[in-house]
Amino acid sequence: MERKPVLAIISPCYNEEEALPRTNERLLDLLERMVQRGEVSGDSRVVYVDDGSRDGTWQLIDRYVAQCHRVCGVKLAGNSGHQNALMAGMQAVVDWADAQVTIDADLQDDIEVIPEMVKDYVEQGCDIVYGVRRERTTDTWFKRTTALGFYKLMHHLGVKSVYNHADFRLMSRRATQQLLKYRERNLFLRGIVPLIGYKTAQVYYDRAPRTAGESKYPLSKMLNFAVDGITSFSIKPVRLVLCMGGIFILIALAMFIYVLYSYFSGRAVTGWASMILSIWFVGGCVLVGLGVVGEYIGKIYIEVKDRPRYNIEKIEKK
Ligand code: UDP
Ligand code: MG
Repeated sequence: MERKPVLAIISPCYNEEEALPRTNERLLDLLERMVQRGEVSGDSRVVYVDDGSRDGTWQLIDRYVAQCHRVCGVKLAGNSGHQNALMAGMQAVVDWADAQVTIDADLQDDIEVIPEMVKDYVEQGCDIVYGVRRERTTDTWFKRTTALGFYKLMHHLGVKSVYNHADFRLMSRRATQQLLKYRERNLFLRGIVPLIGYKTAQVYYDRAPRTAGESKYPLSKMLNFAVDGITSFSIKPVRLVLCMGGIFILIALAMFIYVLYSYFSGRAVTGWASMILSIWFVGGCVLVGLGVVGEYIGKIYIEVKDRPRYNIEKIEKK
């Protein structure tokens, strides 16, 4: 009989004591059903990563680990953020799990599509299966619009993230191993995962509103996350400065003609010509200089991130 895959369901928790009891119950129930149906191995686990919670989250996780052999807990020493907590979870399971699914502890994402993800992984050989929201009616108008705007901006900057996909996804062991090679500090997993390559699939679900506790992503954190996303993937903002410098210098040249004309026709106040030309010209030169420096810093930035240059999918030889 063919070996069943060992699955790890990773859930990052930050002050989730209100949501966790229900989450634990549902995840264990789901895992049990999947084991019974023979979809995954009995060695599969639910892994909670406590991201430095200040409430009773860890005490709860500790209790669940004692109560059930299918629960594992990872405790981070301090609050490291959602994306880092996910990475910590992946690092913890990559040695024993054939595949891992990451899901938020509030279970806004529909856990009932996890068997579909596993099916795509087992039957189609997909290494990455994205959970994609069908529609966003449960989000506020503000969150929907900003999310769409952000997605479009990122796409424009060349980041090929999957639309309406948050961090609910399945990844095979080899995809996880590859992901762990991205050692940058400002993690934006949604942008990095599509860089891995391999065969991917998508499963669709409806996202529910948060039922317990409150969002750990207030506006300030959302903005930080967006800035991280942009600056981790693109040095285009720097190039914009360079372009602006060029435009300023062109404007200065165009004005030169106008200024000369005004000067000779005697309509200009003394001193105006030299003043206005220097403002635009010097301004343009300063911006170009900044842009050039920025280009070099951008290059250093890309080097420092030390991302893997390629990912080999297969090697064939006779
Ligand atoms: N989370 C975390 N560390 C943080 C913030 C959030 O581990 O610093 C976890 C949180 O417990 C939850 C997930 O990340 O499991 C997503 O957070 P939340 O549901 O509050 O975000 P939203 O759904 O509102 O975007
Ligand atoms: Mg949530």
